[in-house]
Amino acid sequence: MQTGLRARDAARRATRELQEAGVPEPGASAEILISELLGIRRGEISLYEPPLDDEQARLYEAWIERRSNREPVQRILGRAYFRNLVLDLNEETLIPRPDTESVAGSAIEIIDRRGGGGVVLDVGTGSGAVAISIAQERPSATVHATDLSKKALEAAERNAGENSAAVHFHHADLFDGLAILEGAVDLLVSNPPYVEAGALEKLAPEVRDWDPRWALDGGPDGLLFYRRIFEEAPPLLKDGADVVLEVGDGQGESVLDLGQDAGFVPLGLREDLAGSPRTALLRWDG
Ligand code: GLN
Repeated sequence: MQTGLRARDAARRATRELQEAGVPEPGASAEILISELLGIRRGEISLYEPPLDDEQARLYEAWIERRSNREPVQRILGRAYFRNLVLDLNEETLIPRPDTESVAGSAIEIIDRRGGGGVVLDVGTGSGAVAISIAQERPSATVHATDLSKKALEAAERNAGENSAAVHFHHADLFDGLAILEGAVDLLVSNPPYVEAGALEKLAPEVRDWDPRWALDGGPDGLLFYRRIFEEAPPLLKDGADVVLEVGDGQGESVLDLGQDAGFVPLGLREDLAGSPRTALLRWDG
C-alpha cells in the first residue's frame, strides 16, 4: 500500500516494481503515471508535498500493476499526445507514435509549398492523429479521413471535436465508396499497416498484445497496403497530387519502387526525429 507516500516516493517504489517486472524504461512509466494521476508536470514530482490519499494510492497501484503486465501507458490512461493534440484512444485505435509526428509534419510542409488549402485525404486514420493535426495546424486545408473500423472513427470524430478541428470522416476500406472525392485530392497521406505478418509475434508486448492487429499487419512482405494504395488511389487524385506515406524500417526504397511501377513519380524519403527514413514522398502526374 502506498497510502501516505509522497509522489516522489510512490514513483520510486513503482519504478522498482516495474524494473523487477522487466518493463523497459520503468522510471519514465512510473513518473508519467504519477504526474497524470495528480495532474502535475513530470518536473514537479519531487516538489509536490501532499501525500497520496487512499483513492490515489489504490489507483496508482492498479496502474502500475497493469504496466507490469506490459500494457502501454497510453492504454492505461486512454489517451495519447501527438504534436499539439491530446487524443482519446480505444481498443481499435493504434497508439499514435512519435515517428508519425514527422509524417504529419511532411504533409504540412507540402501543403505550405502548394500554397495552402487544397483537399487532403488521410487513409486509415485510426485515432485521427494525422488528419486532425493537419486540419488544426492548416485550417485552410479541407481534410477528409477514412478508416475501416467504425469504433476507431468514433474516437477520431470525438478527437476532432475536442481539438476544434474540422475533418470529414468516412467509413471505408481504403478508397472504397469515396466517389465524392473523384479527381479532387491534392494530397494523400497514410500510415498504413506495414509490419510483415511473420514478424508480428516478435513485436514488443506493448505493441503485439495491445495494438489492433489489423492496424499493424501489412501482409507477408509488409507492403500489401502500399500496393493497394498505388493501385486504388489514382481515380481520386488530381494531376500533380502529392503522396506522403509512412514506411517501416528498411521499406522506403521498396515503397518508392512500387509507386514508380504503378505510375507515380518517386520524390524521395524523409527521416523521422530518430534519423530513420520514415516518410516516402511521391507525386501523381496523371
Ligand atoms: N510503427 C508501428 C510499430 O512500431 C507500426 C505501425 C504501422 O504498421 N503502421 O510497430
